[in-house]
Amino acid sequence: MTSTDYDYDLFVIGGGSGGVRAARISAGYGARVALAESYRMGGTCVIRGCVPKKYMVYASDYGHKLDEARAYGWEVQRGGFDFSTFMSRMHAEVSRLSGLYMAGQSSAGVEVFEDHAELVGPHTLRLASSGRTVSARKILIAVGGKPWRPSPEDLPGVEHTIDSNGVFELTEQPRRIIIVGGGYIAVEFAHIFAGLGTETTLIYRGDKVLRGFDDDIRDRVQSGLIAAGVQLVTQSVPSRITRDGGRLPLQVELDTGSLLRADQLMMAVGRRPATDGLGLEAAGVETGPGGIIPVDEFSRTNVESIWAVGDVTGRLELTPVAIREGHAFADTEFGGHPRTMDHSNVATAIFVQPEVGTVGLSEADAREAFGDIDIYKTEFRPMKAVLNGSTERVFMKLVVRARDEVVVGAHIIGPDAGEMIQMLAIAVKMGATKTQFDATCAVHPTMAEEIVTLRTKS
Ligand code: NDP
Repeated sequence: MTSTDYDYDLFVIGGGSGGVRAARISAGYGARVALAESYRMGGTCVIRGCVPKKYMVYASDYGHKLDEARAYGWEVQRGGFDFSTFMSRMHAEVSRLSGLYMAGQSSAGVEVFEDHAELVGPHTLRLASSGRTVSARKILIAVGGKPWRPSPEDLPGVEHTIDSNGVFELTEQPRRIIIVGGGYIAVEFAHIFAGLGTETTLIYRGDKVLRGFDDDIRDRVQSGLIAAGVQLVTQSVPSRITRDGGRLPLQVELDTGSLLRADQLMMAVGRRPATDGLGLEAAGVETGPGGIIPVDEFSRTNVESIWAVGDVTGRLELTPVAIREGHAFADTEFGGHPRTMDHSNVATAIFVQPEVGTVGLSEADAREAFGDIDIYKTEFRPMKAVLNGSTERVFMKLVVRARDEVVVGAHIIGPDAGEMIQMLAIAVKMGATKTQFDATCAVHPTMAEEIVTLRTKS
């Protein structure tokens, strides 16, 4: 068949970060492109993830800033926080961005279906609302993930809980919230709610949050949660949730036998690929552990005409990664410029307060990979905190491969650590050595200057 035998050269399923980038770039190369999105254009990141979450972090952090301003001489009256005003402004911005995503597709010449698309074969899809069947020479699955919760058999009463979608739909600020989990989402929202003045409890099944991150970071995030007023309950999971009346209607029983009450319980126990009703079997697309779609370095699935990018592939569940995978797909398949996304040394930030920024290997992973490594670290009180009496501290750590002095990991906790790690990631990605860090002159007075003045191995 020639390409004109198909309705489209490319059909993208999913209007999130990876899908919209792949569609727009492919259309720019002259491909006839369509995209289906069953919810709202923008995907998890824009609609119920990174963007609204970051606004909630800002809202929460303003409380601390008011206190800091008072210490600097400002006459500040600290009133209450108007949750509904904030949420309606945040949603207005999310809607504006979603509109921009839609407009970006249209102006690129992508035909958008606000509909659920289901695969019915390697080149064919059915659109649920219209019932229309369309064909495409190539199909890209970019459906992302969705929050996972245990079944009611495993956790009776789980229907009374919310997840990281529901948290953005709250109309009232919780008085007391219980958050279950110890990953990115759990620790970020624990800080958000504690900062907004909600009594916050974090329940984690392990003994230290953020499994997989550098241990120094994990220790400090854990103590930072407690310092922020979060009640931390480790080595526990909820075993039953019941709902009755009153101001705190949820009663939560833990496997340890403890009882807690709250008006909201947020499960943040991981995400799963959003492949329900996608017709993967009909098209012959194989899935892997946890329902992910395995792909090769060019994002090819086992079916010759079908590719997948983003969270659904279970590689690195991060927006900029999905964007790059989608762009690389478009360049390869429609731009005549084959390339892959390099998943090494991808920096990431965790928006706890203060933030975590991290790139490369943890100390433990580097030791396992290279044996001989050198560690440089520092911890200090940032200049601003000295005057306002805050106990906030900044922590910085470099993990250096001893044989060639290459910096293989950098980990920061502190205000704006997310901004710092983006810059530092360039050096780490380039394979800079510790000597090159040392040769870089400091910017004074900043927090970041400490990263080029680390002299002593620990
Ligand atoms: P994570 O996979 O990061 O964490 C899930 C947490 O839930 C872990 O602490 C895990 O414990 C715990 N858990 C899993 N199953 C159970 C269970 N049955 N009972 C109790 N606890 C359980 O998932 P998140 O949902 O926090 O985040 C998903 C992904 O989204 C992240 O991996 C990240 O890539 C992305 N993300 C990125 C952000 C950013 O860049 N700032 C922000 C938010 C999300 P254990 O550690 O013991 O396995």
